[in-house]
Amino acid sequence: MAYQLLFEPGKCQGYANCLIEAPEIWDFDEDENRAVLRIVDPPDALRAKADASARCCPAQAIRVEETP
Ligand code: SF4
Repeated sequence: MAYQLLFEPGKCQGYANCLIEAPEIWDFDEDENRAVLRIVDPPDALRAKADASARCCPAQAIRVEETP
């Protein structure tokens, strides 16, 4: 099932949990102290990691949404 990541940079508190869970998907901007979404629509092979990154974000800045 296709999916995409929705990221709200304004909510990001810079905990970097997302980066730890899914380094293939996330990067980190040290100057801004917040995450950078590298891949909006990651491949299915990264779905578990994408879900984990959303689940582990303490600021609830990440959502995973199914796409048609
Ligand atoms: S886990 Fe959430 S708060 Fe932390 S860097 Fe990632 S998006 Fe930002």
